[in-house]
Amino acid sequence: MEATSCAVCGRRTEGPDTDRFCCAECRERGLRQVDRDLEDAITDLLAQRRAGATICPSEAARRVAPDGWRDLMEPVRMAARRLVAAGAVEIVAGGAVVDPSTARGPVRIRRARPHDRGG
Ligand SMILES: [Zn+2]
Repeated sequence: MEATSCAVCGRRTEGPDTDRFCCAECRERGLRQVDRDLEDAITDLLAQRRAGATICPSEAARRVAPDGWRDLMEPVRMAARRLVAAGAVEIVAGGAVVDPSTARGPVRIRRARPHDRGG
């Protein structure tokens, strides 16, 4: 059975499959243009790197907001989690793939390995 993940923060949700949010806070917050921009920044940056290379979440944040990127550090982690849920990227720490719902501390992002799908 596939786990559902929050449409906003990307964390696993325990609620029914029809509930796209993990909590009232996420439901209230919703997704903003900057959240889409952060997802695009992550995928663009990774597309420019060789396969298996990682980026720091701050690189995507700086790309979206060169001056206010520090405010985007949590939103960029949320964007990374959504991309993990979509199967597009993996979050790694210390060279190992970590669970994005529970990862703490500095993490990096890389393209997901093309498991059983070619390319
Ligand atoms: Zn959430």
